Amino acid sequence: LAKGAGKATWQRYRSDLHTAMVERLALRTSLLEAIDAQQFVLQYQPIVNVRTQAVVGVESLVRWQHPERGLLAPYHFIELAEESGAIVGLGAWVLRESLRQFAAWHASDPEMALRYVSVNVSARQFRQPGFVDQVSQALEDAGARPEWLLLEITESLVLRDAEQVWTDLKALRALGVRIAIDDFGTGYSSLSYLRQLPVDVLKIDKSFIDDILDSKQQRALVDAIVTLARNLDLTVVAEGIEDAAQRAMLERMGCPYGQGYLFSKPVWPAEIPPLLILAVVPA
Ligand code: C2E
Ligand code: MG
Ligand code: MG
Ligand code: MG
Repeated sequence: LAKGAGKATWQRYRSDLHTAMVERLALRTSLLEAIDAQQFVLQYQPIVNVRTQAVVGVESLVRWQHPERGLLAPYHFIELAEESGAIVGLGAWVLRESLRQFAAWHASDPEMALRYVSVNVSARQFRQPGFVDQVSQALEDAGARPEWLLLEITESLVLRDAEQVWTDLKALRALGVRIAIDDFGTGYSSLSYLRQLPVDVLKIDKSFIDDILDSKQQRALVDAIVTLARNLDLTVVAEGIEDAAQRAMLERMGCPYGQGYLFSKPVWPAEIPPLLILAVVPA
């Protein structure tokens, strides 16, 4: 190739890099104002019984309704929010709003099949002093029962700063709140650790489910996690189920719960109640 082409590529690369940096900086600045400006919104993705496909819970997933850039997925801002510390305020809002929404669904139909809302908590948010109090205050303010709340944390959080984190996890469980390990399998939890861990639910990462049909090894791992979880009295949710064959495989393994585009993408709050009254499809 001509030398000129290389130079053009380099210049385009430099200009892309520049644009990316400017965008990051702009996002970082506006992120702090976005909470006050009420630009964050929540979508909810159903969590279903793998066998019957009935909805049992929902995971709240934050989006940023950016005035110029439109609806932004977490990929564009969560890391920035973590670095800048904005995640503490954002996370507090997500928790309160998720509980408010759940309490509203419950008020409009106390018999509803939806049992809980699952809320992502970043490591930085969890580690802030007073997090346990913040959770119990949020429950009280929303008039929500502790069993309506499942908090999703990461494997790495439980492995680092073990002592304080474990104390807080136990305090949360004493309140009646349940704890899930999100993206399970991507971290480094040892099996012996898992036995003592103060958690209730393992969410098997999508990357394992992606390969469950094609890779004998991945299939064996998922099968082992499901069996282990059952014997340790933990609940399992398989994340990122996209097709019927994956669902059928997970059902054969005895995986109780699942989440993924096969059942539903994340949707707006008003779309959840109709999903709860759908007739249960016979397996
Ligand atoms: P996550 O907690 O593991 O959430 C699952 C992600 O996988 C969501 O992406 C969801 O839309 C996506 N997903 C679910 N099923 C499928 C599927 O079948 N196929 C594919 N391709 N994707 C699927 P989303 O909403 O973009 O969120 C990405 C991540 O951002 C979340 O991963 C979570 O780590 C983080 N996040 C989202 N909301 C919050 C929040 O309120 N607080 C914090 N700290 N993190 C959040
Ligand atoms: Mg999650
Ligand atoms: Mg996850
Ligand atoms: Mg994930």
